[in-house]
Amino acid sequence: MFSKILIANRGEIALRILRACRELGIKTVAVHSTADEDAMHVRLADEAVCIGPAASRDSYLNVAAILSAATITGAEAIHPGYGFLSENADFAETVEAHGLTFIGPTADHIRMMGDKITAKTTMEALGVPLVPGSDGELTSLDQARAVAEQVGYPVLIKATAGGGGRGMKVARDASEIEEAWSVARTEARTAFGNDAVYLEKYLDKPRHIELQILADNYGSVVHFGERDCSLQRRHQKLLEEAGSPVLTAEERDAIGRTATDALSKMGYRNAGTLEFLYQDGQFCFIEMNTRLQVEHPVTEMVCDVDLVREQIRIAAGEKLGYTQDDVTFSGHAIECRINAEDPDTFAPCPGTVAVYHPPGGLGVRVDSALYTGYRVPPYYDSMIAKVIVHAPTRAQAIARMHRALDEFVVEGIKTVIPLHRRILADPEFQKGDYTIHWLEQFTSRPH
Ligand code: ADP
Repeated sequence: MFSKILIANRGEIALRILRACRELGIKTVAVHSTADEDAMHVRLADEAVCIGPAASRDSYLNVAAILSAATITGAEAIHPGYGFLSENADFAETVEAHGLTFIGPTADHIRMMGDKITAKTTMEALGVPLVPGSDGELTSLDQARAVAEQVGYPVLIKATAGGGGRGMKVARDASEIEEAWSVARTEARTAFGNDAVYLEKYLDKPRHIELQILADNYGSVVHFGERDCSLQRRHQKLLEEAGSPVLTAEERDAIGRTATDALSKMGYRNAGTLEFLYQDGQFCFIEMNTRLQVEHPVTEMVCDVDLVREQIRIAAGEKLGYTQDDVTFSGHAIECRINAEDPDTFAPCPGTVAVYHPPGGLGVRVDSALYTGYRVPPYYDSMIAKVIVHAPTRAQAIARMHRALDEFVVEGIKTVIPLHRRILADPEFQKGDYTIHWLEQFTSRPH
């Protein structure tokens, strides 16, 4: 086992990783920008190193500074969290080339899944069902038109290098294909430096259902069931549940077998998530994330597993030590992402937290790096907390989340807590009757 780990991240996820390290008896090194000198992860870590100015590209994305910090502190491994360098294959490779362990999959697997076209063709060859669409990259507008006619409108043109919900354009009918084609390519070139695009049928009422996987270095692959992340705004998740309100245990077992078989054939290792759109009883793979996800706690609650601890154990060369039959599911979990945003306009709202009092009680977990007096900096992601509840049934989990959000005091900045309370009170949400398009409609209703 490692004796010291560097955490190449900030905010709640840096704390999440720090907590797992502490319980394993591992020393932690925090890295931070000049804007984060007073951050909680810096206060709680055993050591802290400033790696640059506020802008992420100069600090949290500064590979040379992070590697120097690891070297001078004698850290043996680096946990990248999510975002920042977590899906950067070159970073993973450089870490390993310096004789350190990257806590995650191999650079080759990160690269393979980071290119969505390669990810889809790889998964298809391994027997995973896909969203109908182009066979790889689209090379011309004529080809885009032909494939769109074949799969039927509406269609989506997507960037192979896309991420974070960017680089996607819908064409509702033939009159929109030319514009979607050129806008998607231009956006992809500007945002990702790669204008390769592909086409998928745009599904009208899917749910976003993803599967959590862990694999050790010795060929054992286990899944921890699904998360339903259909509540999204601009393709960004806002509220997640485990399990999905619509999936049966048989369907979970079947997709779980398909996914674990595929990853086992690939020789995948560490944590990964396969994302699917689920419509009319069919799963269609859209992408794989080769890292820990923001919403991992809902899985931890229903499976009673510490996914970060498992990631560290796997990276240290330990065996999983259990099989699929040992994974059991209990009750229902919900996560609400609390963003520092205006709940109606979604404008970011950084500033000083005048009062902070998190909820507590049975079945309530808050992952956050906030404290009273903390200044939420304007430079980074607006998510400031995650409230996670666990209860025997979905209805009880909804009631518990209501109660927890009522208790939650965050004064001085605006947050999306009022929006979450409206969602939780909505009869359609309570019935579990929603698709990936539901939240956009819900937020545009007068209230
Ligand atoms: P990103 O990497 O940017 O997150 P994804 O491919 O994972 O991109 O898609 C993000 C979200 O966009 C999905 O969760 C879903 O809401 C929507 N989406 C993606 N593909 C389709 C599709 N073919 N039809 C309808 N919605 C889609």
